Amino acid sequence: MNPAIEVRGLRRVFRVRQGLFARPREVVAVDGVSFAVPAGSVLGVVGESGCGKSTLARMILGLMPPSEGEVLVDGQRLDTMDRRARARLIQPVFQDPFSSLNPRRRVRDIVAQPLAAQGDIPRAAMQRRVAEALERVGLSAEQGGRFPSQLSGGQRQRVAIARALVLRPRIVICDEPTSALDVSVQAQILNLLAELRRDLGLTYLFISHNLAVVEHVASEVAVMYLGRIVERQESEALFRDPQHPYTRALLDSVLTPEPGLGVPDVGLGDIMPDPANVPPGCRFHPRCPKAFAPCATQAPRLTALPTGQVECHLAG
Ligand code: SF4
Ligand code: MG
Repeated sequence: MNPAIEVRGLRRVFRVRQGLFARPREVVAVDGVSFAVPAGSVLGVVGESGCGKSTLARMILGLMPPSEGEVLVDGQRLDTMDRRARARLIQPVFQDPFSSLNPRRRVRDIVAQPLAAQGDIPRAAMQRRVAEALERVGLSAEQGGRFPSQLSGGQRQRVAIARALVLRPRIVICDEPTSALDVSVQAQILNLLAELRRDLGLTYLFISHNLAVVEHVASEVAVMYLGRIVERQESEALFRDPQHPYTRALLDSVLTPEPGLGVPDVGLGDIMPDPANVPPGCRFHPRCPKAFAPCATQAPRLTALPTGQVECHLAG
């Protein structure tokens, strides 16, 4: 296996002060995350808001330094690479294309921006690459001359994808790339991402709170809870036979969808996960329907599964 991205023992601690005179407290947003994504495949990362998914994405993109651990992209340590080299390997597609696209620039200039930041690409070559990226995502040259406000939500997300592709990266980090879109448009963008992955041999980290979306795109799925990956399995196995009680609860919430609801209601009472107060023992125990005595005091160890791994005292 040749991993395109490898993450080793990644941890991120924030110091937060609640109130002017309060002593700062440590919040561990990502707590010891390790995984490798084989080249050409898709790792889906799912979990509720506040589970650390976006912090993980930012560290992998080099937008935020980890407190501990390292990220290897194509076998090279990310923190030893300069910004331009990193941009040629790994690119983001974020949730809300409207806020991530400069409203005063025309689409073709937005898409050209990563090329311009490289500094040494001739103008004619830049124009050719921009035209090629727009065509790849199904936008016309005429649309390239418009401003973001003159496009639909789906078209704006195509612009964001074209901008991510223009440097021909190997890896794309998608953080909730379809969450701001209507359901019918979501499907078009998911199909486009799948087609681009096949045609260009891309590797994706695909982050979403929506398991149904992840099921469509991911070859493997990691489930995060309060900063840790509590279960990781090949997609088919995870959806057929989830091993962690939290994964099971997330899947149950997909079976009874509530349209328009951004955050899944996992039906486990009103205790929301709070990264500032991670419970002792198994961090899921206050919400777990299967919790038993050791869960409140002993952290479960990682147990290997035929197609992945799980952190639960009931495993194995
Ligand atoms: Fe539930 Fe205990 Fe497993 Fe944690 S270790 S998920 S509390 S059964
Ligand atoms: Mg997020």
